Order: sequence, then structure tokens, then C-alpha cells
Amino acid sequence: MSKEIIISVQNLMKKFGQFVANDDLSFEVYKGEIFGFLGANGAGKTTAIKILCGLSTPTSGKISVAGFDAYTQTNKIKHNIGYMSQKFSLYEDLTITENFRFYGGIYGLNKKQIQDKTKQLLERLKLEDAKDKIISSIPLGWKQKLAFSIAIMHDPKIVFLDEPTGGVDPITRRQFWELIYETAHQGITVFVTTHYMDEAEYCDRVSIMVDGKIIALNSPKNLKNEYQAKSMDEVFLKLTRN
Ligand code: ATP
Repeated sequence: MSKEIIISVQNLMKKFGQFVANDDLSFEVYKGEIFGFLGANGAGKTTAIKILCGLSTPTSGKISVAGFDAYTQTNKIKHNIGYMSQKFSLYEDLTITENFRFYGGIYGLNKKQIQDKTKQLLERLKLEDAKDKIISSIPLGWKQKLAFSIAIMHDPKIVFLDEPTGGVDPITRRQFWELIYETAHQGITVFVTTHYMDEAEYCDRVSIMVDGKIIALNSPKNLKNEYQAKSMDEVFLKLTRN
């Protein structure tokens, strides 16, 4: 069975003045895949994610996301994706339910759809009893799972997660990855950046970026074979130290 391409990037360049932040990136991401986008600080990951989310215009290259063009159809891209940033964008002084209502409205869902989605997602998180709690009063791990649930409440084709697990403990990170698996099984493509190499092991494929260029792209298993490494941590260190 041939894989359906959901993101296609050909020769993406992004320059800020003379500085090249994304240097000739080419890759494809398949439907339902968990794609890890790795790189050291400043490698150019957020720059590329912003382009893929329709928030920033490429300097050159051919880029299509969920079937839409990254130059001319950015509004269509935005309607078909979800995005969770390093700083979760939940409103701290609103309750859990109010956050669902607020974002559901932004995504264009009607009242009934918002109610149904809120119920379904809170059941999945086992947080029904907490629905009237103010966000500022709940633990970081809950906030992170809620931010993720809100990012997929409009059933996007792709969800972009930019360092979603920063600052949370290993058990909560593991639970968060279970949510990611479930989401990918439903057919939503997950595009994730992380600095945790144990998380890279959970991805179907990962790319590794150094100084604006992708220098490796494969499944974790194949990368470990190729670079004769025991772990993704070792692969990453070998590639980024050179
Ligand atoms: P991190 O892991 O720290 O989030 P990153 O891989 O996401 O890093 P980017 O945020 O994409 O890296 O930044 C890549 C490079 O581009 C950095 O050197 C950054 O300073 C530069 N850069 C990003 N945005 C701009 C901008 N608007 N103007 C000029 N330079 C920029």
C-alpha cells in the first residue's frame, strides 16, 4: 500500500537578511505518521514549523501542507492543522471548560460540537470531575494534556507540537506520548520537535537538523544501524558534534 503524503517540502529556503535559517530542506511526511523534527537549539526547527503552519512565508522552495500551498493558501492550511507551542496557550484565569469553549469558537465549531468534543476529550483524559477548575490551579502535566486536546479538538489533519513536554516529569511525558500514539492511530499526523532523545525513539521517523540543514532522516532503528549507535541519544551526539 502506498503511503499518502500529507506534507511535501522541496528545497525550502528561509533567509533573514543574509542569514540562512532553513537551508534547502527537502522531505515528506506521511498521513498518520509520528514525525520527529530534531535539532540543537537554533538549528531552524521553529522557523520551518512556522512556515508549515502558514504563519511565515518561505524565501523559496515548493511546500504543500494537507494539500495546500504554503505561499497562497495559508488560511486553508491553518484550518487543517492544530498547533501546540512550547508555551501552552491556555488561558490561566479561565476554567477548563471555558478554554474548550473559547478555542472551539476560534476553530469555528458550533455549540453542540464544542460540548460533544469537550465531553469526549475530558473523558479520554479522565478529567471530567475537574472541568470547572481554573487553569492556574491545575498541575503542569494536566495543562499539557489539555493544551494538546484543544489543539486537536477541530479534528485537524496534522498537529504540530513544538517541544510539548518541556519541564514535565518522565511519567507524565510517557502518558503524553500515549495520547500522541492514540491520535496518530486515528489518522492525525503528528509533527513533533523535542530535545528528549527517549521521545525520538517513539517516532516513526525522525529528521536531524544542524545549522539549517537536514543531515539525517530515517526511522530510529535505521539511524541507529547507520551510525552504529545504541540509542538515539548517541546518534544525535555523533551527528551534532561533527
Ligand atoms: P530552539 O530549539 O532553540 O527552539 P530552533 O531550532 O527552533 O531552536 P529557530 O528558532 O528556528 O531554531 O532559529 C534558527 C535561527 O534563525 C536562529 O539563529 C535564530 O536566531 C534565527 N532567527 C529566527 N527567527 C528570526 C528572525 N525573525 N529574524 C532573524 N533571525 C531569526
